[in-house]
Amino acid sequence: MPDETAERGIGEPEEPPEQRTRTRPRKQPQLTRAGQPIDRRQRLRIPPHHVTKQTPHDRVHNWDEVYFGYTAGPAMFEAQRCIQCPAAPCIQVCPIDNDIPGALAFLELGKLADAAAVFRQTSEMPELCGRLCPQEALCEGSCVVGKNAKPVAIGKLEAFLGDWDRQQRGGFPIPQPDLETGQRVAIVGAGPAGLAVAEQMRAAGHDVTVFEAWPSAGGVLRYGIPNFKTAKDIVDEKAVALAAAGVEFHFETRVGVDIGWDELSQWDAVFLAHGASIGKRLGLEGERLAGIYSATEFLVRANLDNKVLPAALRSRPHVGRKVVVVGGGDTSMDCVRSALRLGADDVTLLYRRTENEMIGREEERRHAREEGVTFEYLTTPVRLIGKDGALVGIECVRMTLGEPDESGRRRPQPMPGSEFVIDCDAFVVAVGYDVGREVYGDSGIDISDWGEVIVDEHGRTSRPGVFAGGDNVIGADLVVTALRGAHDAIPAMLTYLEELQTERALAMAAG
Ligand code: SF4
Repeated sequence: MPDETAERGIGEPEEPPEQRTRTRPRKQPQLTRAGQPIDRRQRLRIPPHHVTKQTPHDRVHNWDEVYFGYTAGPAMFEAQRCIQCPAAPCIQVCPIDNDIPGALAFLELGKLADAAAVFRQTSEMPELCGRLCPQEALCEGSCVVGKNAKPVAIGKLEAFLGDWDRQQRGGFPIPQPDLETGQRVAIVGAGPAGLAVAEQMRAAGHDVTVFEAWPSAGGVLRYGIPNFKTAKDIVDEKAVALAAAGVEFHFETRVGVDIGWDELSQWDAVFLAHGASIGKRLGLEGERLAGIYSATEFLVRANLDNKVLPAALRSRPHVGRKVVVVGGGDTSMDCVRSALRLGADDVTLLYRRTENEMIGREEERRHAREEGVTFEYLTTPVRLIGKDGALVGIECVRMTLGEPDESGRRRPQPMPGSEFVIDCDAFVVAVGYDVGREVYGDSGIDISDWGEVIVDEHGRTSRPGVFAGGDNVIGADLVVTALRGAHDAIPAMLTYLEELQTERALAMAAG
């Protein structure tokens, strides 16, 4: 398959041009054929095949994904860079144990369906993890090739294979149970953990009902991650495949409010996957002024169509000319970049420590800088200034770093007398998320002081038949760690349901 994006000449390469010129081969190496593998030294000499992406100038004027993604030819060459090391540290650090060398061995031979199948064995959504995992801290960070060169582009190859596979099939694979058990499983939350459990429970033949507070499926995939990182049609396709398999979705239904635990206990097993979506507040005076947004409200109103939003959120946020965002993670980068796409001229990020202490991805910060965001490190807001009920400015103070705190990062301390005011029209608070507690109601389920569900290593809660996984167990984290939580619970749920069925059969036989 030709490299269409390269032929069209659109986009910009991942690396600066001078580096591209140095590493680009005069002649592409021949593809391997089964039984004739190129050796390890040859593989190490293959230069990286970069993925093209939109230029910063282009991309701030649209909401499309930044990366164009691989096409088959370059993906096969990139896969040849994997040296198939026996220890495979990439598998060990992948939270869901993806067999990366196994998939890439098929990919380099052009066996794309087989390669995609390897990823689908351990992941319900490789095209999403390939886009969203912080690979530099996971699979690619451990890649042996990466010790002396750029690591194999595992994430983008995984995303390519997932996309290719869906295009061939016309969507995600639809779970096909061999038998129907008649047992019922309720899932609270249609985010990545909830969807993964729904898929596996349905594949095992159970009737699955998903209760979701938002009007559509996806959780953080739809209501947290902006379109320029993940196109929402992938999330739509996932929900369509599950619905086609018979999974029943009840949207705009809040467990603990619209449906209680009396009703929920009519299901044979329950999986809690309500995530961590309550935005933390700063507790500053003036936080209710017009023009101040939580990160979630800002992102959903900026990124999503009205048809997947509740009535109260069906309008774009007003950004005016100047926008300030506070926070240091990937969500804050999503907010500053969304503000630019909404038309703000001047977007500033405030962070109370330095870039070294930031917890998000370096790539996200680089993209934000390229697009024109100003970073104010060692700076924190202390007062929100309003006029006629609307925000007009933020008083900030400069910080200095003291001794490390419990997180191991140096504790920021205000510098007396360093206060200053930034004029702005909108302010977005992106300082983290808490777990909502309304779901628990009178369930009696043990939770931590922070509202996280307490589970054992198999995702079992303190209430028999109720399991949990994802952000509502470990706090706001990654899509792939949510899948890990789901995968931990699935075998225990299946065993529980089987034992329940046996107990009922024995009881019926006895009486
Ligand atoms: Fe890497 Fe994430 Fe894919 Fe695992 S799921 S191989 S960590 S991108």
